Amino acid sequence: MKKQSIWLENFKNQTKKLDTNEECDVLIIGGGITGLSTAYHLKGKNLKVILVERNEIGSGITSKTTGKITYLQELIYSKLYKEKGKEVAKLYLNSQLDAIKIVTNIIKKEKIDCDLEQVKSYVIGNNLEKEKDILKEFNIKVFEDKNAIFVDDTYVFHPIKYLVKIKEILENNNIKIYEHTNIIEIKNDIAYTKEYHIKAKNIVLACHYPFFLLPLLMPIKGYLEKSYIASISNIENKKLSAITSNNPTISLRYHLNNLIYLNGSHAISNHQNEQKNFDNLINEIKKYGTFDYIWSNQDIVTNDHLPIIGKINDSLLIATGYNTWGMTNGSLAGKIISDLILQIDNKYTDLFAVKRDKSLYEIKNILNEIVRNGKSFTLSKLINNKKWYSKQVQFKAIKNDKVGIYIDENNQKHIVYNKCPHLKCGLIFNEFEKTWDCPCHGSRFDMDGNLILGPSRYNITYKKQ
Ligand SMILES: Cc1cc2nc3c(=O)[nH]c(=O)nc-3n(C[C@H](O)[C@H](O)[C@H](O)COP(=O)(O)OP(=O)(O)OC[C@H]3O[C@@H](n4cnc5c(N)ncnc54)[C@H](O)[C@@H]3O)c2cc1C
Repeated sequence: MKKQSIWLENFKNQTKKLDTNEECDVLIIGGGITGLSTAYHLKGKNLKVILVERNEIGSGITSKTTGKITYLQELIYSKLYKEKGKEVAKLYLNSQLDAIKIVTNIIKKEKIDCDLEQVKSYVIGNNLEKEKDILKEFNIKVFEDKNAIFVDDTYVFHPIKYLVKIKEILENNNIKIYEHTNIIEIKNDIAYTKEYHIKAKNIVLACHYPFFLLPLLMPIKGYLEKSYIASISNIENKKLSAITSNNPTISLRYHLNNLIYLNGSHAISNHQNEQKNFDNLINEIKKYGTFDYIWSNQDIVTNDHLPIIGKINDSLLIATGYNTWGMTNGSLAGKIISDLILQIDNKYTDLFAVKRDKSLYEIKNILNEIVRNGKSFTLSKLINNKKWYSKQVQFKAIKNDKVGIYIDENNQKHIVYNKCPHLKCGLIFNEFEKTWDCPCHGSRFDMDGNLILGPSRYNITYKKQ
């Protein structure tokens, strides 16, 4: 059993680091589905485009997705209909249908071998009547089954095979890609790594969680939701994907003869005993067979259920907040962002704009978010709850520094500063994956304090004084 995503198996990458200062028309920060889709739509447009990635292409949230390409997304249309009205619900549906066309057309045009498969997509649970009626009203052919609704024109794929091929296409089109290149600061039109800088007319934040605080953006516009996933082999492929409409969240799909099974979703500020979260998943999947891969993943859920895609100012653009539906929304974001840069009209620009009207529902959710942030910050300062940890995990003060210590199976001590560089939250130790995780905004570090996932831009490696 491997504690990694199934999509990263056999994934080998040729990487090149930024080793000089650069200047370009468009700098894209982030090499997930958003960044690569944006670069794809900018190729051949007579622009100098550079994409930088902190780790390796496809190593972020995209590498751990369940990889469904679907417009049937739990109860999204009933929520939007109720909170934002019919027009918004309809426009969002159209955006997802267009996104599916965008990604499947790219796969066909570029002949990308990424195990694309057309499957039925189910939502299972209670209170599906309204969702079904809305979809019918919008002329979607929706079917009913026992406690379920489904559509049959949706897909699943292998997200990393897709991204690897897109990377190759970009490089063949003179788009420069630098990996292991961490942007730590942006000032005006210049993005800085520790050693070099890149000056750009347009900078695109395709980095999932915005890695520096943007006024009135994260963390106020949403929160991070975390889930636990496993892949079980030797299973008959039933050519469908499914998700529950109410708690507990269970989501599944097949890939070849593997069942990809997700159990449990929660805001990262809740349920912080990670060993327990993984144990719940393991207990649940035992009945299906033995699992080969197990991992966790987290995505941004926005307060108004809509992604955030657009301009922050004339030269800074952002695409994030996909509410766990980033295969469609990340692909669509690539088109919207490139259209904004190329000054082409796009019918979805207003729907996803960074600054958009707030409904009463969103204001309520924002207030909840402020309370949640306050609570998780306070909680993060009281993290040394011994009940959550084995004796291998300790919390101490060394001189004036609060540190966390993990003692491995060889009795080797791994010491880190126990304060997230992002907004100073205390970190919890995830004993299952051996990572230090921020319960407020989702940054993750390995047992030695090396940054795995933002919004932090810095490591927490402990230096003896
Ligand atoms: C459990 C789970 C299951 C999901 N399943 C589905 C699904 O079935 N279908 C679906 O449509 N969506 C799904 N999603 C959502 C989807 O996976 C995400 O929305 C999507 O992958 C986000 O893509 P991204 O490109 O925005 O982010 P990422 O893939 O995280 O890419 C951002 C990249 O930016 C890099 N980066 C960050 N900061 C910097 C920096 N300072 N300098 C340089 N690089 C930086 C990161 O290393 C990262 O590689 C799921 C999400 C979760 C949590």
